[in-house]
Amino acid sequence: MATPCKVVPASKIAQKYLKDVEQLTSKLDKPLTLVGLLANDDPAAKLYANWTGKTASKLGFNYKLVEIPQKDQLEEEIYQANRDDNVDGMIVYFPVFGDRQDQYLQQCVSIDKDVEGLNFQYISNMYHNVRFLDSDHKKKSILPCTPLAVVKILEYLGVYNNLLDYGDRLYGKTVTIINRSEIVGRPLAALLANDGATVYSVDINDIQIYERGDGLRLKQHQVKECTKSLEECAKSSDIIITGVPSKDYKFPTEYIKRGAVLVNFSSEKNFDGEAVKQVASMYVPMIGKVTIAMLLRNLLRLRINKYGSLEK
Ligand code: NAD
Repeated sequence: MATPCKVVPASKIAQKYLKDVEQLTSKLDKPLTLVGLLANDDPAAKLYANWTGKTASKLGFNYKLVEIPQKDQLEEEIYQANRDDNVDGMIVYFPVFGDRQDQYLQQCVSIDKDVEGLNFQYISNMYHNVRFLDSDHKKKSILPCTPLAVVKILEYLGVYNNLLDYGDRLYGKTVTIINRSEIVGRPLAALLANDGATVYSVDINDIQIYERGDGLRLKQHQVKECTKSLEECAKSSDIIITGVPSKDYKFPTEYIKRGAVLVNFSSEKNFDGEAVKQVASMYVPMIGKVTIAMLLRNLLRLRINKYGSLEK
């Protein structure tokens, strides 16, 4: 039976943002160089690296993928790219060691070349809802690209209410996010809560609430423990976002509120694609192409932060 649910592919959403990027790159006197550092043998990372390369080259960037056979050499490659004036931005494909060493390596990337927005300063600004790096408000703080991609997807889908003030446009919306990793789930919960949403952040152990309080009285979100069950949280949510890295995980369709918006950022299919069409209003099954668009957008932003404009 036909349903009103719209399944929206990431490629369609990415088109809009890639067009903006292309317009900006056309203003450059010389193509910007993005370096990808691949030190793991994960086929998904290789695929993602190749997609980044294809999209970047198509839009007029110079993309160089450096495959590093020995994980231990990664740190030196990062420092080499930091020193190289011909490198404008760098992306490291994680996980590499799969432990805290990966966090250390992330911080080795120069803040001026960090297209992924994972530098401590960027992350700290994001959690504190600080949007600029300088007091003149000329240098925008870079946002982590996967959470930013989800924000842009929600904007595209019309979830953000443009009649409300900038920064409050998710006021009244309830969101459940199944993932609280430091790379995606936790920053995403903070970003959406800072924009006015009430967010249930779910991980394998517990559920937390991120919000700015009654009437958005707080400038930045607060985090509280949540005593509700996943079912209660999900059934009251306008938006459900999944990111569980497991083939066996499926979000229970019976927990989804009629007309909810669903976004899956996991490389695995966390929703039962056919069943959710009967209940959701919009469903985005994958987001990778939008993440790449955000990466390139961040690269241009780094350039503007460095020289004040795209031209040198
Ligand atoms: P991670 O392993 O660091 O984190 C997984 C999170 O999911 C944790 O918070 C964990 O507690 C939670 N979780 C796992 N099982 C759960 C369950 N049954 N119920 C509730 N919570 C559960 O992984 P990550 O780096 O956040 O990546 C997650 C997925 O997102 C992966 O599939 C990855 O490939 C994908 N990813 C996609 C993009 C993109 O742009 N498309 C970018 C980054 C990551």
